[in-house]
Amino acid sequence: MDLYDVTIVGGGPAGLYSAFYSGMRDLKTKIIEFHPQLGGKVNIFLEKMLWDVGGQQPIQGEAFLKNLIQQAMTFEPTLCLNSKVKWIEKKDDIFTIMTDSGEKHYSKTVIIAIGGGIFQPIKLEIDGAEKYEMTNLHYTINGMERFRNKELLISGGGNAAIDWACELLPIAKKLTVIYRSDDLKAHESQVKKLKDHGVDILLNTEIQTLNANAQKTAIETVDIMKNGEIQTIMMDDILICHGYNHEVSLDFENKIAPKRNDNQLFESIGQCKTTTPGIFAVGDIVSYEDKVYLLVGTFNDAVLAVNSVKKYIEPEANSYAMVSSHNEKFHEKNQQLLAEIHT
Ligand SMILES: Cc1cc2nc3c(=O)[nH]c(=O)nc-3n(C[C@H](O)[C@H](O)[C@H](O)COP(=O)(O)OP(=O)(O)OC[C@H]3O[C@@H](n4cnc5c(N)ncnc54)[C@H](O)[C@@H]3O)c2cc1C
Repeated sequence: MDLYDVTIVGGGPAGLYSAFYSGMRDLKTKIIEFHPQLGGKVNIFLEKMLWDVGGQQPIQGEAFLKNLIQQAMTFEPTLCLNSKVKWIEKKDDIFTIMTDSGEKHYSKTVIIAIGGGIFQPIKLEIDGAEKYEMTNLHYTINGMERFRNKELLISGGGNAAIDWACELLPIAKKLTVIYRSDDLKAHESQVKKLKDHGVDILLNTEIQTLNANAQKTAIETVDIMKNGEIQTIMMDDILICHGYNHEVSLDFENKIAPKRNDNQLFESIGQCKTTTPGIFAVGDIVSYEDKVYLLVGTFNDAVLAVNSVKKYIEPEANSYAMVSSHNEKFHEKNQQLLAEIHT
């Protein structure tokens, strides 16, 4: 049996920083993540600027994520991607963590870092739509330059749709926003910005049909229904912002099921310990008084949880890791880095 000290379920910011900190505390660590890529919800705002991460100059989501992943890999945790954890049970002091493919992972402790659960964009319910995801049907934006001088149809009326429309104003040739309801739900000032720029905003409007080009490789026109009437719109690309589904499907053997509140968040009894000894929770999935549901909050949780893990496994251990500036682990690397700085 390949036994780990700690298995982290979820590879978002909370899970990633937990993995780094586990390395600081000499714990044999594994991360299990549902998606093929790490980063959790940061993947849905890769293009946006982040201003509120301590010690960081304003930084784009993508660059922030790259740094976060690089830091998480410092102590080379084992990574299992494309794996959804379905069930956790415990026997003889060892947790068995099972994925939906039937794989079993064994661990002395578990850190739950599943955020709001598995995030998936709500997709268009139109037969065959998925084949255009390879070309000009998008559910998120991974590079705005792609839309330079393009005609773009955005479907959605919430903050995500309208924020993207505002960001694309100086880049796209033409923007059309359609929304099924009779009023946009996004922040007033952003809506005003679109209106001031003369963006076409069609309310009470929904996509009916996607019409392919002659090669059947991309969408050429879209039929929309506005107040019961069909219109055809020409566009280069379509962005769908209809929100996200979150699936929180993780379950536990009855005798070890940690207490969760009405919102399914794990209740911390202090230091990110759940009500079940050996199971800890961090990031957006944990609840305690004064919890901060931001990136900075995830880092704080990770330190608390990993220190709790260390004490659970080795009750004699120090409560905290030695600060990094004095930590022997970094001694050699520091010499290299300082030499690079001084040359
Ligand atoms: C649009 C948007 C903008 C934001 N902007 C900011 C900002 O500017 N500043 C800021 O500080 N915060 C911001 N936040 C909040 C920040 O993104 C979250 O606080 C942070 O991502 C929480 O990290 P997490 O690791 O707890 O959860 P998540 O980021 O949700 O990561 C959880 C991970 O767990 C995985 N997972 C879930 N269930 C399972 C399972 N059963 N098996 C395996 N893996 C599983 C998921 O796939 C996911 O990768 C923003 C959030 C959103 C949605």
